[in-house]
Amino acid sequence: MTVQEILDELRARPGTGEIIPIIDPVTEEQITEFTDGGEKAVEEAVARARASFEAAVWTGMPARQRAKIMWRIADLMDAHTAEFAELDSLNTGMPLAQAQMIAPTCAEFFRYYAGWCTKLNGSAYEVQMEGGVSGEFAQMHAYTLKEPYGVVGLIFPWNGPIFNACAKIAPALAAGCSMIVKPAEETPLSALLLDRIIREAGVPDGVVNLVTGYGHTAGAALTTHPDVDKIAFTGSTEVGKKIVEASAGNLKKVMLELGGKSPVLIYDDADLDMAIMMASMGIFVHSGQGCVCGSRIFVQRGVYDRVVEGIATVANNLKLGGPKEEGSMIGPLISQKQLTRVMGFIDEGKGDGVEVVTGGHRLDRTGYFVHPTVLTNVDRGMRLYQQEIFGPVVTVLPFDDDDEAVAMANDTSYGLAATAWTTNLSRAHRLAKRLQAGTVTLNSQLVFDHNVPFGGYKQSGWGHEFGKEGVEAYLKTKSVWAAL
Ligand code: NAD
Repeated sequence: MTVQEILDELRARPGTGEIIPIIDPVTEEQITEFTDGGEKAVEEAVARARASFEAAVWTGMPARQRAKIMWRIADLMDAHTAEFAELDSLNTGMPLAQAQMIAPTCAEFFRYYAGWCTKLNGSAYEVQMEGGVSGEFAQMHAYTLKEPYGVVGLIFPWNGPIFNACAKIAPALAAGCSMIVKPAEETPLSALLLDRIIREAGVPDGVVNLVTGYGHTAGAALTTHPDVDKIAFTGSTEVGKKIVEASAGNLKKVMLELGGKSPVLIYDDADLDMAIMMASMGIFVHSGQGCVCGSRIFVQRGVYDRVVEGIATVANNLKLGGPKEEGSMIGPLISQKQLTRVMGFIDEGKGDGVEVVTGGHRLDRTGYFVHPTVLTNVDRGMRLYQQEIFGPVVTVLPFDDDDEAVAMANDTSYGLAATAWTTNLSRAHRLAKRLQAGTVTLNSQLVFDHNVPFGGYKQSGWGHEFGKEGVEAYLKTKSVWAAL
C-alpha cells in the first residue's frame, strides 16, 4: 500500500462539511484535501459502534482470541513501519529517522495491551453482615466484575499522529470497548493505514470506526453525543475544558491528557554535560511540540551562565530541515497557525524586555521553521512564562536552593512532568515528592514505557494512559452481592 493510495483514500472519504486541506509544513504546499465528516459521519459511526457493542461481536469473543488479533495488528504494523514513518513524517515534517523509531513503539502498544485481555479480573470479598433478616450474621459473598465502558470516543492531536492513535485504540480494544476514532484534522493520514490494518487483522466491523474532520464539528459532535459513554481526549487544556462541559449532557466520563509547562531543575552537582544535552533535547526535539517538553529550565546560580551558554550552543548546532533533507534533526512547526502563535509569544516577550540568548526568529526559508530559542531575564508574570507555547522556546532562570527551585517549578497551573538533574540522590527523591507533576524524571528526560502510567496533575489532565491504569480507564467496576 503506497502513500499515494492513502492520500487518495482520504480525498475520497464522504463528508458533509468544509473541504479541509492537508498542508506539508516543509513546503507549505497542499498535499491533498478531504471533506469534513461532520455530525453525519459521527452519527453513523456511533450507531455502528453501538450496534457492534450490543451484539458483543468483540466483547463476546474469547479473550485469548482478541489478544491474538491484537498481536496480528502489531505484526502488520511492523510489516508497514516504512509506510507509517513516511506518512507521519510527510504529514508533520518530523525527520524520517525519528518517525522510523516511533512506528515500532506504536505497534508495541497492541502487544502490550493484548496481554491484558486475559487478565482483566475483578476481586472476591467474603462479608459478614450484622443484623440480617433474622438478626444473626448474614454470610455474603461479593465480587467485582470488570466490564468495558461501552462506546468510547477517542480524540487526539497532530503532534504524534500514529503514537496518539495507538495509545488509545490498543487499551480500548483490550477492555472490549467499541470506539469512534477522531484524529487531528491536520494529520489523519497514518490513522487511515492503521484503520485498514485493524480490519485486515480481524477486528469485527463496527468495533473501530474512523471519523475524519475538524474538532469543532466532528470532535464536538462526539463529545455531545448521548450514546457515547466515555471520551478519551489528548490535546490542549483549553479544548479539554470544552470537552468537560460538552460531556455534561449525559454525564459521559472523560479522560484527559492535556498540556504542560514542565520544569527542569539543574543543580550544580549534576553531570552538567549530560544535563545540558538532555534538557536542550527535552525542549527542542520535534520543535517543542511534545506535551512533556521541559519549557522552563531552572539552574542553580553557580552554574547558571555555563548552562545557559551550553543550551544555546546545542540550539545553534541543531540542523533544522525537512524529512528528506540530509542530516535533519528537527522538523518544522505543524502549521502556519502554530507558527503565528509561537512567534506571537516570542515577539511579545521581546517587547516586554526578555533577553534572547539565541533564536527568536523564523528561519529564512520555506516551511514553518523556528530557530530553537533560549530566553532569559523573564518575568514570572509574563504570558510566555505561564502558558504552553508548544514550540522550540525555553526560558532559563537561576535559583539558589531547593525551596526556591520547588516554588518556581510548581508555580504553574499545569502539572504534566518535571525533571531534576542532581547527583545527590537523597535530594533527587525528596524533589520527586515535592514536585507537583504526574511524571517526575530524575537524571533523565524523554523516557517512556508502555507499562508505566502517565497522566497529568492540576490542569494537565484527568486519569492515566499506559500500563494497567491505561486499560482500567476503559473499564467499569460492577459489585455483585450474593447471600450464601
Ligand atoms: P487541540 O486541543 O487543539 O486538538 C486536539 C484534538 O481535539 C484534535 O483532534 C481536534 O480536532 C480536537 N478538537 C478541537 N476542538 C474540539 C472540540 N471543541 N471538541 C472536540 N474535539 C475538539 O490540541 P492540538 O493543538 O491539536 O495539540 C496540542 C496540544 O495537545 C498541546 O496542548 C499538548 O500539550 C497536548 N498534548 C498532550 C499530551 C498528553 O499526553 N498530555 C500528548 C500530546 C499532546
